[in-house]
Amino acid sequence: MPRIRQQNVLAAQWTPNGGALGAADLTAPDNQVFGLNVFSPAVQRQRLPRDVFRRLQQTLARGEILDTSLADAVAQAMKDWALERGATHYTHWFQPLTGSTAEKHDSFFAPTGEGTALAEFSGKELIQGEPDASSFPTGGIRATFEARGYTAWDPTSPAFIMENPNGAVLCIPTAFTSWTGEALDHKIPLLRSMDALSKSAIRALRLFGDQAAQRVFTTVGPEQEYFLIDEQYYFERPDLITTGRTLFGAKPPKGHELDDHYFGSIPERILAYMLDTERELAKLGIPVKTRHNEVAPNQYEIAPVFENSNVGSDHQQLTMQIMQNVARRYGLVCLLHEKPFAGVNGSGKHNNWSMGTDTGKNLLDPGDTPHDNLEFLFFCAAVIRAVNRHQGLLRASIASPGQDHRLGANEAPPAIISIFLGTQLENVFSAIERGEAGESTPESFLGLGTPVLPPLPLHGGDRNRTSPFAFTGNKFEFRALGSSMSLSFPNTVLNTIVAEAIDDLAEELEDALAAGQELEAALRPILQRVYAENKQIVFGGDNYSPEWHAEAQRRGLLNLRATPDALPYLVRDETTTLFSNYGVLSERELESRYEVFLEQYVTKLNIEAETAASIARTSVLPAAVRHLTMLNDAQLPELARETAELVEELTEAITSLESANLAENQPHDDLLEHARYMHDRVLPAMDAVRAAADRLERVVADDLWPLPKYSEILFIK
Ligand code: ADP
Ligand code: MG
Repeated sequence: MPRIRQQNVLAAQWTPNGGALGAADLTAPDNQVFGLNVFSPAVQRQRLPRDVFRRLQQTLARGEILDTSLADAVAQAMKDWALERGATHYTHWFQPLTGSTAEKHDSFFAPTGEGTALAEFSGKELIQGEPDASSFPTGGIRATFEARGYTAWDPTSPAFIMENPNGAVLCIPTAFTSWTGEALDHKIPLLRSMDALSKSAIRALRLFGDQAAQRVFTTVGPEQEYFLIDEQYYFERPDLITTGRTLFGAKPPKGHELDDHYFGSIPERILAYMLDTERELAKLGIPVKTRHNEVAPNQYEIAPVFENSNVGSDHQQLTMQIMQNVARRYGLVCLLHEKPFAGVNGSGKHNNWSMGTDTGKNLLDPGDTPHDNLEFLFFCAAVIRAVNRHQGLLRASIASPGQDHRLGANEAPPAIISIFLGTQLENVFSAIERGEAGESTPESFLGLGTPVLPPLPLHGGDRNRTSPFAFTGNKFEFRALGSSMSLSFPNTVLNTIVAEAIDDLAEELEDALAAGQELEAALRPILQRVYAENKQIVFGGDNYSPEWHAEAQRRGLLNLRATPDALPYLVRDETTTLFSNYGVLSERELESRYEVFLEQYVTKLNIEAETAASIARTSVLPAAVRHLTMLNDAQLPELARETAELVEELTEAITSLESANLAENQPHDDLLEHARYMHDRVLPAMDAVRAAADRLERVVADDLWPLPKYSEILFIK
C-alpha cells in the first residue's frame, strides 16, 4: 500500500461550520432561509407598487413581451432590496456558449461630485447591458458582427444575491445576443423552445377538450453526480487542476467492487459540506430534495425539486457554482468532470423532463380517468416519435470530450439512444399497435375502447438503470447528460423535437375530428401507426450488453460513439429545417454552435494532450529514471531491466504524443477534420503515454512517485 501523505491527513481536519470562510448561518431554521436572497414574487409583491406588480405577473404568466415602462419601477425596488441585503454591485448574469456562466460587476454607486456617492440603478441598466462579446465564443457569427453584444433581462428567472464573506452582488439573469439579434447563449434558444412547445401542446390540449390551460411549461429536475476529494491532493495533481480529470493513475487495489459506498452512511465532513451547500442553495431559492453517496468511492449525488426548464437550468448552473465554492470551506474540491478517474465510474446528470400546464396538470402523468389516459398516450406517443426521429440530434446535444469517456462504457447509458417505457406502458402501446379493442386482460390491462380504463399506476413498474431515456412514472428521464453540462441545450433540443411531434400528431387528429370521428376512434389509428413506425427506439433490456449493440444495429439505430461523430447532426438538413420552422435557432445560429462545440472539443483535447506530455516528461519520466538508477546502483539487473523497458516505452510514447500535438502536424482547414484528428490520433497517443506511466506507478518506489495515487485520492473522506 502506498503511504498516505502526512500533510493530507492534516488538511483533512476541517473546521466545523466551514472555518473562516463559512458565510452560512447553519443554525437558522430552514423556512427562514429559503429564498432569502431571491427577488421572488413574494418580495416583489411587498415592494412594488400594486399596479406594477400585477402587470409584471400578468406579463410573465402569459409569456408576453415586457412593457419597458415597468422597468424603472422594478429596478428601483430591486436596488433598494439588494442594498438592504448588503449588495454593493450588480451584474448581468448570463450563459455564453462556453457552457458556464459569465458576469461583469458594476457598482451601484456613482460619485455625486461633492465627495459623496449615490446608489443608482435605472430601468435601462436592468434591462440591457453591453459586455464585450468578442471575448466569448460566437462560432461563425464572429466574422460579421464586430464584437458588439447585448445582455437582456430575463424577468422570468428571478434576480438573486450572491454572497461573499466580503460583500454581495445582485445577479440579474439575462440573455446574451449579438447586435444583429442572434443568440450567443444557451438561454435564448431554451426560452424560444419553451414557447414553441407551449404553442403545440396548447393546440393539442384543445382537441382533448382542455379549454382552461393557457400555457404549457416544460419542467426539469436534474440529478447531479459529483466527486469530493481533499484539496491537498488536488493541488498536487496538475492534470486535475488544468483539465478537471486525472490523466494518469493506476487502478487502486480497492475500487467499488465491495459496493460499500453506494447509499452508504455519509462521512461527517462530507455531510457537513452537504448541509452547508444545501443551506446556501436554499438562500437562493433552490429546493434540494435528495442527497446520497453514489457508486464510486468519494462520489455523491444531489437532486433538487423540479422547476420550469428556464429557472431549473439557471438554478442548475448556480448549483454547480455553489457546490464548488462551498467545498473549499471544508478543505475539499468538488469535481464535476464526467470522468475524473479512469477505471472508476464517472459522473452524469439525469435530466428529468416533463410538460405541465399553468393549471397544474402534468401532461405525462397517466392520471386515473380514461380521458386523462388518452391525453397521456397522445403526449407519450409524441415523445417516442420525437426521440426516434431525432436520435442523432439528441445524442449531439450531450456530446463533449468528457462524455466520450463515459457513454457506452458500461457505467453510463450507451451512445445509442433508446427509450425505456417499462413493461406496463410497453404492453399498452403493443396492444394499441395490434389494434386490440382493449379488453382488460392482465397482459394488456389498459387498452383503448374499454368502458372503464384502469389507471396506470404512477410508478409504472420497473426501472432500468442502463437506459439513456426512461419513462419513470410521470416524466421522462434523459439519463445521458454529462455532470458538468448546462441543462439548457439538451432541453432546448428535447422541447423542440417534441413540439414538432405534437404538431404532427395534432394535425392528424384535427383532420380526423373534422371528418366527424369521435375522439377515441380518431386517436386510436394515429397512436397505432405512430407506435408501429417508431417502436424501434423502444428497448427494455440491458443497454450495456453486446447483444443490444448488435440488435440496435439491426434496427438501424444510430450509434454515435464520439463527439466528432455526433456533432454534425446539429447542422443536418432535418435539424436546420426543424429549428428554423419553430424559430428556435436559425441556420446561422446552429452553425455557430456547431463550430463552437467543435472548437471546444479540439481545444480541450489539445490542453489535455499538452498537459499529459508535460507531466510525463517532467515528472513521471524523471521519477522512473531515478528509480532505475537506484536499481542499477543496487546491482539488481532483473528489476532494472523491467524498469528500463518501461522507461523506453514511456519515452517513445511521449515523443509520439509530442509529435501529434505539434500544430504543424494537425489539420487546420476544416474543424471537423481537426476534431477527428484529435480523436483518432491524439487520444490514442495520450492513452499510450498513460499506459506506460501507470505501469511504472506500480514499479517505481512510492517515495519517488510524483503524483498522489488513486488509492490516496479516492479514499480520504
Ligand atoms: P425517481 O425516484 O423516479 O427518480 P423522484 O421523485 O426521486 O423520482 O425524482 C427524481 C427527480 O425527478 C427529482 O429531481 C425531481 O424533482 C424530478 N421530477 C419529479 N417530477 C418531475 C416533473 N414532473 N418534471 C421534471 N422533473 C421531475
Ligand atoms: Mg431518477
